[in-house]
Amino acid sequence: MRHEVVLIPGDGIGLETSAAMQEVIAASGAQIEWVIAKAGAAVIDEFGTPLPEETVEAIKEYKVAIKGPVTTPVGTGFRSVNVALRKTLDLYVNLRPVMSIPGAGGRYDDVDLIVVRENTEDLYAGIEFEEGAEDTRELIGFIDKMGKGSIRQDSGISIKPISVTATRNIVEFAFDYAEKHGRKKVTSVHKANIMKHSDGLFLRESREVAKEHASIAFDDKIVDAFCMNMVMDPSQFDVIVFPNLYGDIASDLAAGLVGGLGIAPGANIGRECAVFEAVHGSAPDIAGKDLANPTAEILSAAMMLDHLGEQACADRVRAAIRAVYAKGEFLTGDIRRAEGQAKQPASCTEFTAAVVRELA
Ligand code: ATP
Repeated sequence: MRHEVVLIPGDGIGLETSAAMQEVIAASGAQIEWVIAKAGAAVIDEFGTPLPEETVEAIKEYKVAIKGPVTTPVGTGFRSVNVALRKTLDLYVNLRPVMSIPGAGGRYDDVDLIVVRENTEDLYAGIEFEEGAEDTRELIGFIDKMGKGSIRQDSGISIKPISVTATRNIVEFAFDYAEKHGRKKVTSVHKANIMKHSDGLFLRESREVAKEHASIAFDDKIVDAFCMNMVMDPSQFDVIVFPNLYGDIASDLAAGLVGGLGIAPGANIGRECAVFEAVHGSAPDIAGKDLANPTAEILSAAMMLDHLGEQACADRVRAAIRAVYAKGEFLTGDIRRAEGQAKQPASCTEFTAAVVRELA
């Protein structure tokens, strides 16, 4: 079956990883027609914004998109394209599967877990008060007057909202995912012992939702203990659900355990649309040099194929990637470094060609 999918190539290494991804998806036999859409600092002059309305409309129309990394323009007054997309399209789930790929330089061979990160609130909601500003002084005065505590006058403040609605939505998603994918356990991560009204709510609602899913085991971890446990023995985790900020940090931690950002795929999922994207950013230090590892974007595309019902093509792509790592002949510099190998790294082009050969 043919599918129309919006492709935002992104910038920085995104241009290279997106092209590599398209080559691999074509070789997988999946019938994808790409609808190219623009976003990022490079389009601000043309559209007056890094996220043009026509790009948002295209995603709404076609429902499925894949996005290369987009650099957040600094000093232009624009917020991150990623955050804007998540908000505009209500992509409330950030889904990041973390799996060992033998040969990819991971610390463990048996990691197979699913990071489910809430995507719409928490400290990421962007409700911020600048140090020294009038409204900040007012807020500090108000908090003092309410007897909630004394905040230093020279403070900047970020607000951390955690709602029952968003928590229930994300925890429901985690349990549904576990049920649909034969997973055994959901772990909720929080700091409820300290932040009783935000993380405490997250834990309380996690427990409530867990009661409605008796076939899946449930436990919870305080975020600091979680980090230690992850590093010492990640095999104890299965599906893990986080508020936004802890999920952001934990997904990089998890990626580090299996070989780094170069191989970590992801998806932003809403009730209407889904936008697939690698965990990594645009890596300006290596952009345009044919050094990027396109694995993360290719695996994100495999998740997209799953989402489109093209399971067989998705499995072929994942098998081809695993074969290239197992053979170890064409691995990019990030992996060679992680593995401590002196062997010459492959370019993005050479790695991609090796994956395409496996698919052939
Ligand atoms: P952002 O803030 O957009 O997430 P960042 O600067 O925090 O971006 P990344 O761009 O994700 O971080 O990457 C950090 C570093 O990791 C890069 O500078 C690069 O050296 C390395 N890196 C990231 N992705 C890849 C990749 N696909 N291939 C090779 N190296 C990568």
